[in-house]
Amino acid sequence: MKFDYLITGAGIAGCVLAERLASQLNKKVIVIDKREHIGGNCYDYYNSAGVLIHKYGPHYFRTNLKHVFDYLSNFTDWHYVYYRVKAMVDGKLLPIPINLDTVNELYGYDFSSNELKKFFKINMVRVDEIKNSEEAIVSKIGRELFEKIYKAYTLKQWGVEPKELDVSVCERIPVRTNRDDRYFTDKYQAMPKYGYHKMFENMLKHPNVHIMLKTNYKEIKDDIRCKKHIYTGPIDEYFDYIYGRLPYRSLRFEHETLDVEFYQPVSQVNYPYDYDFTRVVESKHITGQKHHKTTIIREYPSDEGEPYYPVPAAKSRTIYERYRRKAERLKDVHFIGRLAEYKYLNMDQVVDRALRLFEALHVMEDDGKLNVFPGVSDGY
Ligand SMILES: Cc1cc2nc3c(=O)[nH]c(=O)nc-3n(C[C@H](O)[C@H](O)[C@H](O)COP(=O)(O)OP(=O)(O)OC[C@H]3O[C@@H](n4cnc5c(N)ncnc54)[C@H](O)[C@@H]3O)c2cc1C
Repeated sequence: MKFDYLITGAGIAGCVLAERLASQLNKKVIVIDKREHIGGNCYDYYNSAGVLIHKYGPHYFRTNLKHVFDYLSNFTDWHYVYYRVKAMVDGKLLPIPINLDTVNELYGYDFSSNELKKFFKINMVRVDEIKNSEEAIVSKIGRELFEKIYKAYTLKQWGVEPKELDVSVCERIPVRTNRDDRYFTDKYQAMPKYGYHKMFENMLKHPNVHIMLKTNYKEIKDDIRCKKHIYTGPIDEYFDYIYGRLPYRSLRFEHETLDVEFYQPVSQVNYPYDYDFTRVVESKHITGQKHHKTTIIREYPSDEGEPYYPVPAAKSRTIYERYRRKAERLKDVHFIGRLAEYKYLNMDQVVDRALRLFEALHVMEDDGKLNVFPGVSDGY
């Protein structure tokens, strides 16, 4: 069979591009993935007890980008839901992100919003130039709350002290002075009604799309003839690690199915101090599934294993820059997604980037010139 495009990786980036190229430009597309399923890290499935769970950590879909929400709505109905998270601190389950109730419940206060604003103002640490994650947080909420709620959690999650972590990791941590206990405040917050996997199946259901699972690009690259390539795997692996390996933080998941309808009050409970795991996730709260049993997943961060979180630090940025410059010179290979761009990206950001790459490829198909690399300008 002859194909116009090879797409490495059947994650959300690969699915969007396969769908667009096949349905809008009538291109023949082959999508390969080394895993045994489509959907990349957003993959979900029904386990042996019949509970719908997220294999690679909880995926809360939310966005402010209407065009992204509208685009995905072509392939799924939605279960509308606000996500809620709590943290176990000093034996109390407190709302996260920090809001009025978090502070009142933690200290036994009865602050109003204005009083809480004053409390933050008195306690915040003045920092002239914020250089790391610790400073990013203490400059908002002060040292004591930072130590109670964020310090140990961040250390567990990343394996280094927050003061050694790049500012970008914690700079956007929200702090509220009202009682809003939603985890996110985006305009659109919803889960695919029949799960992510079903949504991706619908996207790839096109006669022009051919899928090959359990297929590693490295093993087939010399056998496959396809002029154009969209690559969503790790960029350092593509270039055989010539400039060294890019570091990632990984996770280990421990599943437990229980004979109760619900185990905890919200979808996610963080454990900053106790235990070796960072959080316990119960997906039934977000999928809306009715089931007399439930499955909880404990997450253990680790340096070994599948690449999950790129590590934002000066050293890794320098290595990535070298790969990026090399990738930029390849005319018919386009690097997109969290592994190829070595960047933590939410699902909606990836969809947005994939749609923009598609628009650029469309132009390229017309004039045969443009070489696109999303990491360069973000603006094509
Ligand atoms: C624990 C965790 C929780 C998250 N939670 C959220 C959330 O709540 N909300 C949100 O918006 N985002 C969340 N994200 C981010 C989300 O997972 C990403 O935005 C999304 O998965 C990126 O899609 P992608 O297509 O770029 O990459 P991926 O989903 O990683 O897909 C890349 C695919 O390429 C395949 N591949 C790699 N190398 C090769 C090769 N050599 N040959 C063949 N195939 C290959 C991989 O197997 C994979 O399937 C979370 C991420 C993590 C790690």
